[in-house]
Amino acid sequence: MPRSASLRIAVVGAGLGGLTAAVALHQAGFDVDVYEQAPELTEVGGGINMGPNAARVLYRLGLGKALDREAVRPLSTHQRRWQDGRTLQRAPLNPRCEELYGAPHLTVHRADLLAIIASGFPAERIHLAHRLVGLDDKGDHVEAWFENGARTTADVVVGADGINSMVRAALLGEEAPRFAGCVAYRGLVPAERVADLGLELGSQSWVGPGGHFVHYFVSRGRLLNFVGWTEHDTWNREDWTDRATVTRALAAFEGWHSQIGRIVAAADTCFIWALYDREPLPRWSVGRVTLLGDACHPMYPFMGQGAAQAIEDGATLAACLIAAGGGEPVETLRRYQVLRRPRVTRLQEMSRANKIRFHLPDGPAQEARDAEWARAGDRSPDALRWLYEFDATELPKG
Ligand SMILES: Cc1cc2nc3c(=O)[nH]c(=O)nc-3n(C[C@H](O)[C@H](O)[C@H](O)COP(=O)(O)OP(=O)(O)OC[C@H]3O[C@@H](n4cnc5c(N)ncnc54)[C@H](O)[C@@H]3O)c2cc1C
Repeated sequence: MPRSASLRIAVVGAGLGGLTAAVALHQAGFDVDVYEQAPELTEVGGGINMGPNAARVLYRLGLGKALDREAVRPLSTHQRRWQDGRTLQRAPLNPRCEELYGAPHLTVHRADLLAIIASGFPAERIHLAHRLVGLDDKGDHVEAWFENGARTTADVVVGADGINSMVRAALLGEEAPRFAGCVAYRGLVPAERVADLGLELGSQSWVGPGGHFVHYFVSRGRLLNFVGWTEHDTWNREDWTDRATVTRALAAFEGWHSQIGRIVAAADTCFIWALYDREPLPRWSVGRVTLLGDACHPMYPFMGQGAAQAIEDGATLAACLIAAGGGEPVETLRRYQVLRRPRVTRLQEMSRANKIRFHLPDGPAQEARDAEWARAGDRSPDALRWLYEFDATELPKG
């Protein structure tokens, strides 16, 4: 039996990041349990834009068949001007991504993606309705306990419990996340309701003063997912399932290109979600406990990489533990953090910068941005080589 089999790993949080880590660790032969606060596995919200860097990880985990069935392979990425729809930049996504990087770019419904990843892990090892309330690193093992009175003991604990991570607070202290001054209206529209718009099977984003609007197809092309971002000074709820009205979303994008209004008006409901992030953390592995995904590096979704980086984290964490044969967990978790931190910090910073760039008021700065995009682009698979070719399942040599 490989030594890895003896290492007991508790993953806290069954989101996209936690479940990917669980699948990778389970496949490597570790003894893995997942603890999720919710009574069932759910993902709220609509779609995920998944670059080849994350798709690659999921294909390597053997989830490709289900992804190919449920996800959409967008043909292009297209950025347009808010009012007149003028093209600011446009680039092919598929099959270009596979040609360049050996993995496709996908757009996928969150619930489909979560179910696909969960299918790679034994259901009986996912403990639902287990809300972690405390943990104690004893040096040679970690004890953890839950709101329902259950307790567990593990050699390693992975906090994949999202932006309000309890594990992060236990390791590094309580600190509220920071409101970004931005909220999103989100919705899903049956494709047939907007068929007359003749939308390409691609991802489009519209940028304008104080906001931007993104739409792409998910669920085998049956649904069009949209997210419309607008700036707001204050917000007092952090719940993206709070119901917003379609009327409010339409008002937020009044004066924008008619295609946007058509898409929003075709939705039955829409949700509103407030955006938060945190400063990059100096560390996220302490003793036998580590973090991944939004628990340690929440980022604005303006590089479309939050979930992708959580997925990469899981792959690299597993690769580090495999390379160490399950031994020396403290050192191994530190190595994982050292490998991951520069890349996710860069993406956190780029995502923040995009909030400003995407929302520039019309004027000289906006004109300079548009000229730069027209000249060089920055969303094309060729321009994002450093991001897309990265293989999180491979550790650097040496
Ligand atoms: C509008 C929007 C659009 C986005 N678009 C993209 C995109 O296109 N591409 C992309 O890559 N990313 C995108 N993101 C970012 C992405 O959604 C997140 O980065 C990603 O979901 C984080 O995954 P996670 O597993 O780290 O955390 P989460 O998905 O937050 O999962 C955390 C899990 O932990 C559970 N949990 C929490 N506390 C406890 C506890 N105490 N005990 C037990 N369980 C607990 C939660 O119930 C949850 O299931 C977007 C985000 C938003 C808001």
